[in-house]
Amino acid sequence: MLKKLVKVLFNVIIAVVLVFTALWLIMGKQVKEEYAAYKKSSAPILLYHAIGEPVEIEWPPSLITPAALFESHLQYLTQTGYRVVSVEELVKLLQNNDNLEKVVAMSFDDGYRNNYTDALPLLKKYATKASFYIVDRDIGKGIYMDRKKLHGLLANGMEIGSHTINHAPLALIDPKYLPWEVGSAKKFLEEKLDGYTVKGMAYPNGGYNEKVLKAVNHYGFTYGLTGKVGANTYQTFSKAPYEMYRISIVDDGNGLEGFKRRLERAYIWGYLQTKGIDLNLLRDLLVK
Ligand SMILES: [Zn+2]
Repeated sequence: MLKKLVKVLFNVIIAVVLVFTALWLIMGKQVKEEYAAYKKSSAPILLYHAIGEPVEIEWPPSLITPAALFESHLQYLTQTGYRVVSVEELVKLLQNNDNLEKVVAMSFDDGYRNNYTDALPLLKKYATKASFYIVDRDIGKGIYMDRKKLHGLLANGMEIGSHTINHAPLALIDPKYLPWEVGSAKKFLEEKLDGYTVKGMAYPNGGYNEKVLKAVNHYGFTYGLTGKVGANTYQTFSKAPYEMYRISIVDDGNGLEGFKRRLERAYIWGYLQTKGIDLNLLRDLLVK
């Protein structure tokens, strides 16, 4: 059943891409100009998990980006004129309606130790910034960063955000736990970081609902990161600061080309959203 749905979804995506390509060819210059203008006024947020050699996590190995591949992403972005910022820096640009041309934000979920040992040195090498979303219960355990490493990230100008206390799928848990997984998660993390203000929440597995949006607002978060693919613009952020778009970067076996395609996908999906076509809705419908 699931396989069939995935196949259907795949075909639908191909169809949309074909329609988009056809429109592109027919309308040519106009669409190209419009798309180029859209790209200048929008910024994707890249989502990584583990960096480095495979570690023992229960997730697919594709979620581990080899360090050399990660470096090729940073090299490509900086050499093609991209400014790689943390999400809080992007949020500031969005709040001020500043220029977003060639701005991309970088984020890491779950707080793996190799984010510190493998990713941080490369981020420093390329003078780039990133945001790290931490699961409170995992701090200092096994393959995760401890407090000292989190402080080290901050000392290097990185951002730290929350990824709940228990990696709780916020839209699926009993809402009575939201004060704990959202409110207490922020408070505990801020205590461990000696009073640092945690501004962002990345929803575990990207899932959220109206109650979750209310909770993140109530407990004083500035923004929230979803699993929806797209790019962020002044319009999308002003309307929904707790529903920012991200594009998952995985090692799909296609090296740097795979990365370039994913980056472009964020812009294409975002551009289509401005035309009333949200491929995320389609994806959710078909995958459910
Ligand atoms: Zn996660």
